[in-house]
Amino acid sequence: MLISNPWPVVLTRSALGLAATLLIGLIVGAPLLVFAIGAAGLLLYNLIQLYRLESWLRRSRKRRPPRAGGIWGNIFDGLDRQYQRQRERRYRLVRLLRRFRESVNAMPDGTILLTGSGEMDWWNQLATRYLGLHWPKDRGQRIANLIRHPDFAEYLEQGDWETAVKIPSPQDSRRTLEIRIVPYGQDQQLLLARDVSELHRLETMRRDFVGNISHELRTPLTVLRGMSEQLAEMDDLAPADLERPLALMEQQVDRMTRLVDDLLLLSRLETERPQARRGAVNINELLEDVVDEARAMSQGNHVINLTVDEGLGIAGEDEELRSAFSNLLSNAVKYTEPGGSIDVRWFEAAGAACLSVADTGRGIPLHHLPRLTERFYRVDSGRASRDGGTGLGLAIVKHVLSRHSARLEVTSEVGEGSTFTAVFPLYTRLGKAPSVREASER
Ligand code: ADP
Repeated sequence: MLISNPWPVVLTRSALGLAATLLIGLIVGAPLLVFAIGAAGLLLYNLIQLYRLESWLRRSRKRRPPRAGGIWGNIFDGLDRQYQRQRERRYRLVRLLRRFRESVNAMPDGTILLTGSGEMDWWNQLATRYLGLHWPKDRGQRIANLIRHPDFAEYLEQGDWETAVKIPSPQDSRRTLEIRIVPYGQDQQLLLARDVSELHRLETMRRDFVGNISHELRTPLTVLRGMSEQLAEMDDLAPADLERPLALMEQQVDRMTRLVDDLLLLSRLETERPQARRGAVNINELLEDVVDEARAMSQGNHVINLTVDEGLGIAGEDEELRSAFSNLLSNAVKYTEPGGSIDVRWFEAAGAACLSVADTGRGIPLHHLPRLTERFYRVDSGRASRDGGTGLGLAIVKHVLSRHSARLEVTSEVGEGSTFTAVFPLYTRLGKAPSVREASER
């Protein structure tokens, strides 16, 4: 309802009232007295309305407002309408909040609402169960003070919300939780905790199985290798037509040994925690070694160039990096026809230290690139196994890099060549000016 402007009526009525008292006063011969009585009546009326308004506001605004005519009626109705509107808005908000909480409670993940500075604002029942939180005691506490696992602390510190972290539940160490933080709203975060115990158990079983079986295969393989070598050396015992089968046997035993070694290395990379404190890697020496190995493997068939920015340093596990870089280089040699060239560069680009291995080999069709680091994934399976690959090289590279907070980038063009780049965002610049050393050789 629209309230029209009451002031013309109020003013006209007041003026008429005062004029009437004056007139009556003149008629009875006491104008001032009658006028004063009239003014006092008006004042009393307004005081009464003020009293009714104040006691309505003070007692309970749920009751209907006092009834009055004129401007006081407008004031009572206006206030009442505003109050009703506010109440409806509040009810709507409460309903919305209740629905939000009900749906978050129904979610299969433990969920915590975090403020921008990492304090817990609200959480659902599963979060209480998984993380042992107490409502309302823990409200306002920093999440880092309640979940104290070192992996979680590292995850919080690095601030890379693309990934998740797995930790045992602080409530029940048999339960494995996958924790992920999702930014939302303005500078707020949702922490999601999922129970992945079953998956984790299966994954551990698979890892243990691969690790154990590789270990078990090692001894029989060593025996087989020794015997086939012995047989090959016994010229008088081994007839000439057994020469080729024996050579084939040796070759296959070698291949299987490489496979078992790679499987063992992979299972170690998957199960062992990276050392918290790692030493500085002598990258110059390491790259020289792996390039020398690649030159020996190429047997002079490729030109291999090495360019090193000596001022760039990283911390890490020497042996792990050696095997990752050596896999990249041996792939470049394997998949590049004789006469091609391979460029190995250690350089700084876009806030990272990078190791790139670029070859002029056969290249890889684009649709294979996302799957290259899967175990046993091969672009051309027949050819790759003939080339002596185990199909595990790039899986090892990926694991080693992720243990160094680094990633692998691949670009390739069929018939032109491929570039594999290991990108290390955590690095140090040792000297001020980059000092570059180059070496090129067959
Ligand atoms: P493999 O032991 O078979 O070389 P990897 O995991 O090292 O296994 O590599 C996976 C597949 O990626 C290889 O089989 C090969 O098809 C392809 N590949 C890897 N490096 C190169 C390269 N430099 N040029 C072309 N293809 C490559």
